Amino acid sequence: FNVPTPTNETVLNYGPQSPERAALKAALAEGRAYKIDIPMYIGDKQIFEGKRLEIRPPHDHKHLLANFFEGDKSTVEQAIEAALAAKADWEDMPWEQRAAIFLKAADLFAGPYRAKINAATMLGQSKNAYQAEIDAACELVDFLRFNVSYMTDIYAQQPPVSPKGIWNRVEQRPLEGFVFALTPFNFTAIAGNLPASAAMMGNVVVWKPAYTQIYAANVLMQVFLEAGLPPGVINLIYVDGPVAGDVIFNHPDFAGIHFTGSTKVFQDIWQTIGTNIHKYKTYPRIVGETGGKDFVLAHPSANAEVVSTALVRGAFEYQGQKCSAASRAYIPASLWPAVKEFMQRDLATIKVGPTEDFENFVNAVISEASFDKLAKYIDDAKADSSVEIIAGGTYDKSQGWFIQPTVLQVQDPYYVTMCTELFGPVLTIYVYEDDKFDEILQVVDKTSIYALTGSIISQDRYAIAKATQALRNAAGNFYINDKPTGAVVGQQPFGGARGSGTNDKAGSMINLLRWVSPRTIKETF
Ligand code: GLU
Repeated sequence: FNVPTPTNETVLNYGPQSPERAALKAALAEGRAYKIDIPMYIGDKQIFEGKRLEIRPPHDHKHLLANFFEGDKSTVEQAIEAALAAKADWEDMPWEQRAAIFLKAADLFAGPYRAKINAATMLGQSKNAYQAEIDAACELVDFLRFNVSYMTDIYAQQPPVSPKGIWNRVEQRPLEGFVFALTPFNFTAIAGNLPASAAMMGNVVVWKPAYTQIYAANVLMQVFLEAGLPPGVINLIYVDGPVAGDVIFNHPDFAGIHFTGSTKVFQDIWQTIGTNIHKYKTYPRIVGETGGKDFVLAHPSANAEVVSTALVRGAFEYQGQKCSAASRAYIPASLWPAVKEFMQRDLATIKVGPTEDFENFVNAVISEASFDKLAKYIDDAKADSSVEIIAGGTYDKSQGWFIQPTVLQVQDPYYVTMCTELFGPVLTIYVYEDDKFDEILQVVDKTSIYALTGSIISQDRYAIAKATQALRNAAGNFYINDKPTGAVVGQQPFGGARGSGTNDKAGSMINLLRWVSPRTIKETF
C-alpha cells in the first residue's frame, strides 16, 4: 500500500499582519522569557545531570537562553545500551507503523509546533524568520514526508523473477547494531533528518548534535516523542566529541554514522573507524556531508542583475553559514562593472542585526570562534594591497557576533579566500578576461577541492553545455542560471563528492538505502 503522496510544505510569508508572524513573535517572546534546562534523552529517562553549560543567542550573547547538561563517557555507554535495548521491538514493528510516527511528527512540526521550532531556530542559531521557516518548518517536514514515501518504494522492491516452484524475495533489514548521528548547528532540518532517516528504516540511534544546535534539537526530540517514537529509539546526548567518539567507535555494535559537519572531523572519524574495523560485528555504513567552497561562474552572455542576485542571495542568506553558500565567484571583465553596481546597490539595503527584528536580513554568525576567524580573514584581506573591499569589511561583537556582508575582489584566482571554506558572510570575486572562459573552467575545477554546489550563469547554450561538462565532478548540485543554494527536498536531492562528502543525497532513496542491510530469501516449494 502507498503512503500519502508528499508535496512540498508551503512556505508561509510572515507578513506584518499575518497570523503566522503573531504566533512566531509570541513563541520568540516565550523562548526569551523562560530560561529552560534542557535534558539529555536516554531510553525513557531525561537526564538533568552533568556539567551545566549555557546557551546564548548568537545575536545577543549577554542573554542567557537556556542551560544544558554535558555528559561523559558513561553517558555515551548508557545511550548505546538504551538504543540496543530498544532495538528488537523497534525493528520488528511493521514499517508502516514506523512511517506513521514520522508522518505524525511532520504534521506536528507543520502545525502546532511550527512557531516553536522556528523560534528555537531563530534564537539558538540566529536565523531570520524566513530562513527559519524554510529550514525548520518546511525542509524538516519535507525530509520526513518524502523519506516516508521513499520507504514505501524501498520495501516494495522485490526481485523481478521467481521461476516456477521458487519464491525469491528481499527483506530490508535494519543494520545490525546502532547508528551514530552527528549533526551540525546550521540546519534544524538536517539535525532532525540525520537521526530520523536512520530510525525510520528500523535502526536505533545515538544522536549527538553540535552544542550550538541543542536549543532546537530539544524541540525536535520532544516532538518525535510526542509523535509516538518509542523511548530508546533515538537517544539525544551532549558529550564532548572525542569523549563520545572514543566510546562509539570502539563499540562492537557500532553499525553506521550519519554525519554533517566539517571535512576534517569526518576524515578523522573515517580514519578511526578504519583503525578499529576489526572490532565491529559488521562493516559500518559511513555517510557524511562535509565542507563546501561553492562557486558562481558567470559567462559574458549572462544578465548582470541575475548574476548579482545569485551572489547576494547565495552568499549572504543564512549569514553564508551553509555548506552550499556561494563563496567564490568568477565574473567576466565586461560584466563586472554592472554586477558590482547591482551588488553594491542591493547590499546597501541589507540590514544586519538580531533575528527578533524581522527587518534584519543578515543576523549573527554562530559563535565567537567563528566571528574571530572571519574577522581575521577580513583583516588579512584589508592589509593586502592586492585585495579590494567591494562591500562590508566591518564587524562588531559588542552585542552579537555580527559580520557585515563582505565582498572581496582578488587578483589571484588561488587567493586564500578563493580556496578556503570560511562558513560566513564573505564572498570573494575573481574577474577574468572575457576570452578566457575555457581557462577559467579549468581553474574552477582545479580549485574545487570540495564539490558540493556550483552555478553557471549564461544565456549562451554552448557555454552552459561546456561548463556542465567541464565541471562534472566539481559540484554534486549544479545550478544553471540560479544561485547555488536552496535545494528543495523531493526536487533537488542534495549532496556532493570530493571533500564535500559521500554524496548520499539527503532526502533521497539513495540515502535511506544506506540504513538497510538486505536479506535475500530463496524459498523452494
Ligand atoms: N540544503 C541546503 C541548500 O541547498 C544546504 C544545507 C547545508 O548547508 O548543509 O542550500
